[in-house]
Amino acid sequence: MESEEGCCEEGRYHPTLQGDDNAAAGKAAPSGTFDIAVIGGGIVGLASARELSLRHPSLVFAVLEKEKELALHQSGHNSGVIHSGIYYKPGSLKAKLCVEGAILCYEYCDQKGIPYKQCGKLIVAVEHEEIPRLKALYERGIQNNVRGLKLITSKEIQAKEPYCRGLMALDSPYTGIVNYRQVALAYAEDFQAAGGTVLTEFEVEEMEMTKESADGSKEGMKYPIVVRNSKGKEVRCRHLVSCAGLYSDRLSQISGCHPEPRIVPFRGDYLVLKPEKCYLVRGNIYPVPDPRFPFLGIHFTPRMDGSVWLGPNAVLAFKREGYKFYDFSIQDFMDATAYSGLWKLVLKNFSYGMGEMYRACFLNAQLKQLQKIIPEVTINDIQRGPAGVRAQALDNDGNLIDDFVFDSGTGDIAARILHVRNAPSPAATSSLAIAKMIANEVEQRFEL
Ligand SMILES: Cc1cc2nc3c(=O)[nH]c(=O)nc-3n(C[C@H](O)[C@H](O)[C@H](O)COP(=O)(O)OP(=O)(O)OC[C@H]3O[C@@H](n4cnc5c(N)ncnc54)[C@H](O)[C@@H]3O)c2cc1C
Repeated sequence: MESEEGCCEEGRYHPTLQGDDNAAAGKAAPSGTFDIAVIGGGIVGLASARELSLRHPSLVFAVLEKEKELALHQSGHNSGVIHSGIYYKPGSLKAKLCVEGAILCYEYCDQKGIPYKQCGKLIVAVEHEEIPRLKALYERGIQNNVRGLKLITSKEIQAKEPYCRGLMALDSPYTGIVNYRQVALAYAEDFQAAGGTVLTEFEVEEMEMTKESADGSKEGMKYPIVVRNSKGKEVRCRHLVSCAGLYSDRLSQISGCHPEPRIVPFRGDYLVLKPEKCYLVRGNIYPVPDPRFPFLGIHFTPRMDGSVWLGPNAVLAFKREGYKFYDFSIQDFMDATAYSGLWKLVLKNFSYGMGEMYRACFLNAQLKQLQKIIPEVTINDIQRGPAGVRAQALDNDGNLIDDFVFDSGTGDIAARILHVRNAPSPAATSSLAIAKMIANEVEQRFEL
């Protein structure tokens, strides 16, 4: 099940430039050398590499990705929702990037012929005490310039979603769904078409400034950063941008950055509605979120293939990129449990965390939450589905970090490197807007 979102649908990615042959790409740099290498072939790294390569056609770019294929992790394991930007604090970067990103996402899909559905979304209040929070969300959405928002009554809810029960709902017709892996692969195609090189199966393990020029190089120290992979292969570059998702903290540390913020992996398990019951859901249906937590609550999400996913929950994962209940990595486990920030988070949210663990184990418990919104769903209508793992940045006081974190560390290499340590969700929706922001940052820092 693990690769359901990412791999089941046909991607259009074909790694035409698997090698490091810049000459074949019509570029000036010698083989194996790049002006800028971007670590991480997820949607953020690919969108950023695409934006940079389109802005700077004379420069030579590479994307370095550890997997055999692109966008297999967060970008291939998510709900696939094009968020309209309701939830985020007005004026925040996250709000701005989401609203702009959704518009750009629809435009991009139209240009490329990528299928999407603007099927809308209802955020449904089922208890009276949720109504003030729902109204506050409406106000936020209006302040964030979200298109078409309105509060609707119980009757209007049923006209839109006949099986959904609620006292009041926030109707967001601009919300949609798409396969983000397909979007990410289209970014990779644009990048390659602009002459960029994609090196897959290149797991970056070391990055350092070298004092020696490359063998046989006539260019002296033009490419002073050596990036080595786990098999000892190396590429050289002038600048590095790291967008490594669940490993962004480890890669930052390799180049001398502070260990914090650390990434704590949260697994989100989905349930799937049996095909004969998919008629129960037309668009996205979400609960009113609990403002104390960064997760949106388990929701009903239609998929591009016609199926309906329910979830995700949010439980601490014992393995980064571990998509199954029993997946365990001793290094990841030790890393997480030795971090005092995690313990502070656990203590602050003990009952919520335990509740999530309980619901992850017992389907009936999750079902109860779903039935609050669609009472007709029964235990016979649902089955366990795929999962995703979210890279949640956490500070030493146990606070979840909700904003972008850029870093570069110390020493000579710091002037040449940009680590995107946290690209908060919904970074898939916001990817084209984030890419513009990262490209601006790169241009400014590296004086391109
Ligand atoms: C369960 C879940 C549901 C979500 N739902 C939504 C949604 O509905 N809408 C939305 O907009 N967002 C959603 N998100 C968030 C969104 O998916 C992420 O914000 C986004 O995909 C992050 O992209 P990324 O490129 O930063 O990370 P990733 O996609 O994880 O990419 C990072 C890449 O770096 C590579 N890498 C790591 N270490 C190395 C190394 N050492 N060397 C080389 N490569 C390396 C990895 O292999 C990976 O390909 C969801 C996330 C989750 C987990």
